Amino acid sequence: MLKYLGRISLAVILVSSLFIGYSFAKMDDGFGAAKKIESQHFTIYYAPELNPDELAQELGIHPLDKIITGSFYQNDLGGMIDTLFSQVCDILDMQLYSFHGTIKICRDFKQVSGIYKNLFDRGLTDRHSYYVYGLNTVYVSAEHFKREILGHEIAHAVETYYFAVSPSVKIQEVLAGFVEYQLRKSYK
Ligand SMILES: [Zn+2]
Repeated sequence: MLKYLGRISLAVILVSSLFIGYSFAKMDDGFGAAKKIESQHFTIYYAPELNPDELAQELGIHPLDKIITGSFYQNDLGGMIDTLFSQVCDILDMQLYSFHGTIKICRDFKQVSGIYKNLFDRGLTDRHSYYVYGLNTVYVSAEHFKREILGHEIAHAVETYYFAVSPSVKIQEVLAGFVEYQLRKSYK
């Protein structure tokens, strides 16, 4: 009997360690060393060689935008991304007050596509950025760190969390494209 129990617990240990191994493998996107900022709606990781103030500037969120969205966020990278999040929610007319996601800012496009290869085992062809639903994470490079590009990916996150049943990929893309267009247009 003891021998039997021993075998069962060994099997349990083996199965659970397989699970742990699996979940770690899934979580490990290969991003590597990173610095971290917590904002209201996002945990933001960025490659250590990047400067968060320069990234914030790249986004080019105007102070007026904060008044329009009615938000009172800090004037740093986290605050600007939260402001952009409010804008995206307003454009889509989908309010998600308690949403929290992750944004990973890669040093360059090579890192963005390397992570995509790690996660999906295929190359990234026609995009500079993407949102991974299973990890609730947006991946974008410093080179393409622009309001409309990040806004497009945040729109995918908002759409995913807003609907109980996700719309088709085509519809999701149309909505994200609409957000991108509005963000581009509003700054001309
Ligand atoms: Zn898209």
